[in-house]
Amino acid sequence: MSIDAHCHLDLHANPKAVMEAAIAAKMQVVAVTTTPAAYHVSSTFTDIEHGIIPALGMHPEVVGSRTQDIRLFSKYLDRVSWVGEVGLDGSRRFRHFWEAQVEVFERVLQECSDAGGRILSVHSRLATKKVFELLKKYPHAGTPVLHWFSGHPSEVADGIALGAYFSVNQQMMQSDAGKAIIRQIPRGRILTESDAPFAKPNGAIDLAGQIGGAERQLAEIFECRLDEIQLVVHENFRKLTPKAAISV
Ligand code: MN
Repeated sequence: MSIDAHCHLDLHANPKAVMEAAIAAKMQVVAVTTTPAAYHVSSTFTDIEHGIIPALGMHPEVVGSRTQDIRLFSKYLDRVSWVGEVGLDGSRRFRHFWEAQVEVFERVLQECSDAGGRILSVHSRLATKKVFELLKKYPHAGTPVLHWFSGHPSEVADGIALGAYFSVNQQMMQSDAGKAIIRQIPRGRILTESDAPFAKPNGAIDLAGQIGGAERQLAEIFECRLDEIQLVVHENFRKLTPKAAISV
């Protein structure tokens, strides 16, 4: 039973084939989306009863071109336990619409707060400080899961203090910086993710293979057995996700 807490199922060339393989491998997959419109499409083919959980997203990188889509966010929020991909991106390419990103992310956090909280798959590239500041400002928005965290290892503790989990992928563990981050994360706050189709260490789209690779690397970093890591990640996911949205 493996966990993929952040996968762009809808951006694969053949989402259904990828999904069917994941179901056959008995995985739990959080199918993140980049806009509420994309969520609507994803929700028509994902199979929540078999562990493929569609998440409602508004990705910071597309906020510049799809700002209006945020209006649809509240329309679908009642249907989901997971929200994502949301957050902020401070890199040069997306900084020119930073203010719009902040405005949209605050709206997401406010709406999640009003709705009683959600699990949030959060993007924070070159934006850790502002993301943490806003998560602190909206403490009832839900539980953040920091996806592919790339801040300073010393900032992991600040994320932990905010109640955050961290979803980590194989690509992260190929760099010393990524490993240094992972060493700071308590086992009770770790989840695995593929970020497929974007992180493809072997060029292949095989969610079970990617998550298996991440689990093996985690076992090495934490110097424990593979089945211990699998158990802890599974338990973390169960703690986080309401029963209604989980098939295990
Ligand atoms: Mn992503």
